[in-house]
Amino acid sequence: MLNRRLFARQFAAAVPTLTTLASVAKGSQTQTQQAAPGTPPAGRGPMDGSPLGDQLPGQKWRVHDRTRPQPRKVTPGRPIPAPSAPSDAIVLFDGKDLSKWHGGGRGGAVTEPAWKVENGYMELVAGAGSLITKDSFGDVQLHVEWTTPTGTDASRVGQFRGNSGVIFMGLYEMQVLSGYDNPTYADGGAGAIYGVYPPMVNPCLPEGQWNTYDLVFEAPKFDRDKLVKPAYMTLFFNGLLVQHRVELLGTTSHEPIAVYTPHPPELPLTLQGHAGPARFRNIWIRRLTGYDA
Ligand code: MG
Repeated sequence: MLNRRLFARQFAAAVPTLTTLASVAKGSQTQTQQAAPGTPPAGRGPMDGSPLGDQLPGQKWRVHDRTRPQPRKVTPGRPIPAPSAPSDAIVLFDGKDLSKWHGGGRGGAVTEPAWKVENGYMELVAGAGSLITKDSFGDVQLHVEWTTPTGTDASRVGQFRGNSGVIFMGLYEMQVLSGYDNPTYADGGAGAIYGVYPPMVNPCLPEGQWNTYDLVFEAPKFDRDKLVKPAYMTLFFNGLLVQHRVELLGTTSHEPIAVYTPHPPELPLTLQGHAGPARFRNIWIRRLTGYDA
């Protein structure tokens, strides 16, 4: 178990995304997030990589509570929905190149994207950092397909196995993690709103098979320093509703309770460069403009 200070230092060195967006948002983001990547020491268990967090408001659980029930496993129906992009979508990845993305370098630097592209997918490789869209977004519908490749080092378990994430505005994470037979704390698994809610059920497929996320994200609204509307997130995971317009407590936080920090109405989307390996394909996004628009 990492102590808080060591965790924060390791996380800041390994995952610069929040630092990057803090400068974009002209705010003073001071979040910590998930455990640092790297090969876990021998003997590390599936629940390790995170200390126990604070009491969650409105719930009986603490952040990363080991006693919180695991989501019930459900076998999704076939075929898994994997639609091509509709005509009003922005295609973020069509299997060919990373032209819609920047890399997120250490210390918040914007770099060339370093993820591997082959065979119609892109892959988070060790040390490649996060990917950040060149465009910014607010309210959106997002489709993304992902898998943890087979052959991942068997010593990597829990948060160290296939960890990535879809992070709206670079601040609000939907967890990506090997989730078929890779136990971890319930609010840190695939389909979890990290540190707040596990998915209602777990329809994750075995490693090597492609999962789909169909997400709706409603951006928070601020009036200068005041939050006037929180963010909401909805997820269909392999066609099953597992997060239903969940009100977010704030920016994704590893251990302390999430809080909001004011930021612009649109910010880039991030794919998290965490412990990996993880592969993504067929990524498209639609701006939600509301009725009569
Ligand atoms: Mg993650």
